[in-house]
Amino acid sequence: MSDVPAITVNKVSKQFDNIEVLRDINLTVNKGEVVSILGSSGSGKSTLLRCMNWLEQPDRGAIYIGTERIGIDDRSQQPMGNKQLAQLRQRVGMVFQSFNLWPHLTVRQNVTEALIHVKKLHRDEANQIATRQLEKVGMLEKQHNYPITLSGGQKQRVAIARSLAMSPEVMLFDEPTSALDPERVGEVLTVMKQLSQEGYTMVVVTHEMEFARAVSDQVVFLEKGKLIEQAPPEEFFTRPKSERVQQFLQTVR
Ligand code: ADP
Ligand code: MG
Repeated sequence: MSDVPAITVNKVSKQFDNIEVLRDINLTVNKGEVVSILGSSGSGKSTLLRCMNWLEQPDRGAIYIGTERIGIDDRSQQPMGNKQLAQLRQRVGMVFQSFNLWPHLTVRQNVTEALIHVKKLHRDEANQIATRQLEKVGMLEKQHNYPITLSGGQKQRVAIARSLAMSPEVMLFDEPTSALDPERVGEVLTVMKQLSQEGYTMVVVTHEMEFARAVSDQVVFLEKGKLIEQAPPEEFFTRPKSERVQQFLQTVR
């Protein structure tokens, strides 16, 4: 069914050390949509994103990847087995601020590693996929390089290719350009914009307001763990309802 959302977050709450960092969050990410998550530092953006692939476990609420609940077996209400969880996680790709490439592997090997050892594809097939994805992000020329020889922007493009290679249904990006030199931000945003045009479903935590405005279908704003505003970008950036978002937009302009 094409109208099942890619991700559904249903009344999710989470505490760290008795502090509520997510409070009753509801969010629907439809297929083919780009959802940007904005908010100041510490507002819970990363925690929300990490709950979507069960890197963090919510205390309450449920998260669905398509029609399947992640982390908890819906019937027994017990934690999901590792194998089942790993299968669901494969459907959700994640790109981090810090790239997390394997330093001892070349660019090409970084992309083929999980295809061969997790997806159990034949080496030739993995290599074909790697060629396609590295080409997509403009990194095929550097396929034999090691990560240490690359700029931050190049590393991040390889990390994106590696994630795409697993054919996820949704891509999560946690501040993918925040660790980059300013002159390297554009090349990563260009790749992400291209992915959105190809119809990828993406959830993007970002401080890049122009990107959020130009590329998103929905913008959501977190404040102290609460989702306080959600709107299409035109509305969000020109007529935000909450005073907090009005104030936030003043400071980032
Ligand atoms: P953001 O990504 O919006 O900056 P985070 O989701 O990283 O916010 O963090 C939200 C709050 O949760 C912050 O107060 C942070 O210090 C706290 N926090 C995040 N991860 C942990 C953790 N593993 N243990 C304890 N506190 C955490
Ligand atoms: Mg964060």
